[in-house]
Amino acid sequence: MAAVELSRDATPKWVYVFAAGKAEGNAAMIDLLGGKGANLAEMACLGLPVPPGFTITTEVCGLYYENGKSLPEGLGPQVDQALELIGNETGAVFGSEENPLLVAVRSGGRASMPGMMDTILNLGLNDRTVTGLARNSGDDRFAYDSYRRFIQMYGDVVLGVDHTVFEDILDNYKNLNGFSYDTELGAKEWQKIIALYKKAIENETGKPFPQDTSEQLWGAIGAVFGSWQNARAVTYRRLHAIPDSWGTAVNVQAMVFGNMGNTSATGVAFTRNPSTGVNEIYGEYLVNAQGEDVVAGIRTPQPLTAKARREAEDPNPSLEEEMPEAFAQLESIFATLEQRYRDMQDIEFTIQNGKVWMLQTRSGKRTTEAAVRIAVDLAEEGIITREEAVLRVDPGGFTQLLHPTIDSDADKELLTTGLPASPGAAAGGIVFTSDEAEKQKQQGRDVILVRTETSPEDIHGMHASAGILTARGGMTSHAAVVARGMGVPCVSGAGALRINEKAGTLSVGKNVLQAGDVITIDGATGRVYAGAVPMRQPQLSGDFARLIAWADEARVLGVRANADTPKDAKQARAFGAQGIGLCRTEHMFFDAERILAMREMICATTEDGRRAALAKILPVQRADFIELFEIMDELPVTIRLLDPPLHEFLPREEREIEAVAAALAMPTEKLKARIAELAEFNPMLGMRGSRLAIRYPEITEMQARAIFEAAIEAEKRLGAVVEPEIMIPLVAYRHEFDILAGVIRSVAETIGRESGKPLSYKLGTMIELPRACLKAGELTAGDHGADFLSFGTNDLTQTVLGLSRDDAAPILSAYSAQGVYEEDPFVSIDQEGVGELVRIGVERGREAKPALKVGICGEHGGDPASVAFFHAAGFDYVSCSPFRVPVARLAAAQAAIRAKLKS
Ligand code: ADP
Ligand code: MG
Ligand code: MG
Repeated sequence: MAAVELSRDATPKWVYVFAAGKAEGNAAMIDLLGGKGANLAEMACLGLPVPPGFTITTEVCGLYYENGKSLPEGLGPQVDQALELIGNETGAVFGSEENPLLVAVRSGGRASMPGMMDTILNLGLNDRTVTGLARNSGDDRFAYDSYRRFIQMYGDVVLGVDHTVFEDILDNYKNLNGFSYDTELGAKEWQKIIALYKKAIENETGKPFPQDTSEQLWGAIGAVFGSWQNARAVTYRRLHAIPDSWGTAVNVQAMVFGNMGNTSATGVAFTRNPSTGVNEIYGEYLVNAQGEDVVAGIRTPQPLTAKARREAEDPNPSLEEEMPEAFAQLESIFATLEQRYRDMQDIEFTIQNGKVWMLQTRSGKRTTEAAVRIAVDLAEEGIITREEAVLRVDPGGFTQLLHPTIDSDADKELLTTGLPASPGAAAGGIVFTSDEAEKQKQQGRDVILVRTETSPEDIHGMHASAGILTARGGMTSHAAVVARGMGVPCVSGAGALRINEKAGTLSVGKNVLQAGDVITIDGATGRVYAGAVPMRQPQLSGDFARLIAWADEARVLGVRANADTPKDAKQARAFGAQGIGLCRTEHMFFDAERILAMREMICATTEDGRRAALAKILPVQRADFIELFEIMDELPVTIRLLDPPLHEFLPREEREIEAVAAALAMPTEKLKARIAELAEFNPMLGMRGSRLAIRYPEITEMQARAIFEAAIEAEKRLGAVVEPEIMIPLVAYRHEFDILAGVIRSVAETIGRESGKPLSYKLGTMIELPRACLKAGELTAGDHGADFLSFGTNDLTQTVLGLSRDDAAPILSAYSAQGVYEEDPFVSIDQEGVGELVRIGVERGREAKPALKVGICGEHGGDPASVAFFHAAGFDYVSCSPFRVPVARLAAAQAAIRAKLKS
C-alpha cells in the first residue's frame, strides 16, 4: 500500500545531499552528479572536511530545456529540504538576518568545461543579512567585502551586467580616494561601493538588485542551466565532442571564507608536480582572499611549500611556513585522496580561521613527462599495477617527450626569465595574435605566440604555435594550464616584457623586438633567449625507459622503423625499433651528387645506356646497404625495390637538363623529347613499382646485386648471419611477383655461386592495391610465393578511397567540416573500409601460407588508434618513422592489455 502511494506521489530524486562523513552520492555517479558533485560527495564519504551542500542532477538540466527553459515542479521542495539540512549542519538559516547561511552556486558537468557559467559565491547576502554576517564574524570589513563580491558576481553572471562596469566603479573610487590596493579598503568604503554597484545594476537592468534570497538562489540555479547552451559552451562541446544531452549539474554549497583575515586563505594544489611529475605538493595560495582571486592574477599568489618558495626566491612565506598545521592537514588529505583515486589530484581548498576545507578534487592534467613519472611512481608505490601504469600514459603525447632541449653549451643571449609553465624548448618568429599564429603556421613557419595573457579565445593560436610566452599569469594561469595540456612549451608571467600589440613590438629593458623576430623559449627553466638557440635531441632514459620496458613486456606486436639512411637507422635503434620495416631505396638518390646518375638511368633510351648509369649507382647503393646492415646488426631489414613515380626524378630546370644531357652525351633537345615521352597524366597510377621493374628488369638486377653483395660484406664484418628481406612494390598479380622474383633469384644464384655459399634471404611484396588484398592468397601460395606481406597503407588508402594524398588537403578540410571523415584517413586508418580489405588480405594470405609474416609500413604504423587496429587484425609488426617508434611501442602494449582485460 505504502509502495503504491509512493510511486504515485513521488517526484524523481533530483537533489543529492553531502556533508562531512555522509553523502547520498559518490565518485561513481559522475553522469548524474557531474564530476564536481560526485567528487564532493566522495570526499564527504571519506570523512574529509567538505562544507555541506547538495547537487541538483544533470537530469534536471535536460528537463529544464524540455520545459522551455523552466525548472520542473517538485524541485522546489527538494531544494528547500536540502537547504534546511545544510542549515542544520552549519547552524545557520538561509535568508535569516540573525544567523545567515551563505552558499556558493557552482556548475559542473561530466567533463570539466570552461565556457560554462562562473561560480557565484556569497549568495544569500542582502542589506539585512550582511549586518548579521558582520555581527557574527565580528568583522565588518569582511562582511561588506563579501557582499560587494556577491553583487559583482551575481550582476555579471546572472543579470548580465558587464564586469567592466563594476571594475570601473571600483577603480574610479580608488583613484579618487587615493587607494592602490583592495586590501586597503575598509567596511565604510565597501559600503559606499556597494551603493554604487546597486545603482549601476538598476540603471543597466531597470530593476533593483534582488534582496529576496530565494529569488537570488533560483536566479543562480537557472543561470547555471541556462549557461549549458551559451555560445562559448556550445563551441567548446563541439570542439571536444561532448554531447549536448549530457547536461550540467548544479552544486549549492555552504560558503567557507578565505577572506576572514590573516588566518584565512584560499588556494589550489596538485598532489604531485604536474609539470615534472615529482612527488611533491605543488600549488599556490593567497591569504585573506576568496575564490578565483588566485587564478585571476590580481595579486601574486605564494607557493605552498618551503622548497618551492626557496627555489622561486620568493620573499613571502609559503603556506608550509605560515600555517604549518593547515599545511600538515592538507598533506594528509592529499595522501588519502591519492589512495582513493589512485591518481594525482588537482585540488581547490579554502582555509577559514586556520581550518582547512576541501572544495574540489579531480584527476589533474599533466604534461606527458609528468604522466610518465607519476605512472611509474604510483606503480612503484604499489598503488597501481605496471599494466595500469602503461595504460595511464597517452601515446599520442609521447612525441612531446621527444622534444628537443636547449643545448646547454651553446652561446646564447638571455632576454628575460618567466615561469617554467610547460616544458620543452621552442624557437620561432614572434607573433602577437592567435590569428596571425594560425596564418603563419599554415605557411609553414614556426611561431612563438607572445601575449600579455591568454584567454579561451586564443586556443587556435596556441595550438598553431611552437611555443607560448606571456607577460602575466602564474603556473595555474590559462596559458600555463592549456599549454601543458597541449604539450606546447610555455613560459608564463615574464613580468619584464612590455608588449605593444598595435605597434607590433616586444620590449625587454633596452631590447626592442619586432613581430617576426626569432626568439627561443625554454619551458623547463622559464628562460627566454634572443634568436634561435641550438638544441639537443632527446633520448629514452629514466622513467620513460622504465615505462617503455613495462610496455614491451605486455606487447605482442613487433615495432620496426621506416629508415632509409644510417642516421634514421641509428635513431630507430635508439628508440628501440626491432628492425627496419621499410627502407625506401629511391630515397637514397635524392642526394645532390647521386641524383645525376639516377636521372641518367631514367632518361637513357637504351638498355646499354641504363646499364651504364646503373653501374655507377651499384657501388653507392651497396655501400649504403652495408652500413644499414651493420647498424641494424642482426635485426631484420626490409628493403623495397625502386618505386618512384618517375616524375619525382625527372630533371626540370634547364641547368639540370643540361647536366644530364652532358652525362648521357645526348643533345639537349633529344633529352627534352625523352622527358616529354616519360611524362604521365597520373604518375601515382603510372609507370612505377613492379611495372617499372618489369619494363626495365636491369634495375631490379642491379638492386638485388647491391643488396646481396652488401649482405655478404656485412656478414663478414659482423660475424653474423644477415638475411635481407626484399620487398617488391605495387604488385596486383601473382605473375608480376613471379617475374621479378625470378630476376632476383637468378641474381642470388649467380652471386651464391661466385661467393661459394648459398645466400639466405626472404622475398615479399607490398600490399598497396585492392586487388592485392583480395588476391593475397594467390600472392603467397606455395614455396615460391611471397614469404611476407607488408601493407603499404598510404598507397592502399589512396587506391581504396580513390583519393590522391597530394591533392587531399582541401578535400579533407571540407569533408571533416561536414563530418564525412571522422579522422584524416591518411593519419588514422579507415578501419571500416580500408581496414576490411586489410583484414581480408591477412586472412587469405595466412590461409595459403600459415607461417606468413605480416607487417604494415605506412604512416599509420605510428598512429595509436591504427596500431590498436593492426594488433587486433593479427599483424606481426608495424613499422613507422623512428620518432614514432616509442609511440607505437606504447600503443601496441595498450592494445594488448586492453584486449586481455576484455577477455
Ligand atoms: P570552477 O569549476 O571554475 O573551478 P568552482 O565551482 O570550483 O569553479 O569555484 C571556483 C572557486 O570558488 C573555488 O576554487 C573556490 O575558491 C571558490 N568556491 C567554490 N565553492 C566555494 C565554497 N563553498 N566556499 C568558498 N569558496 C568556494
Ligand atoms: Mg575556475
Ligand atoms: Mg574549481
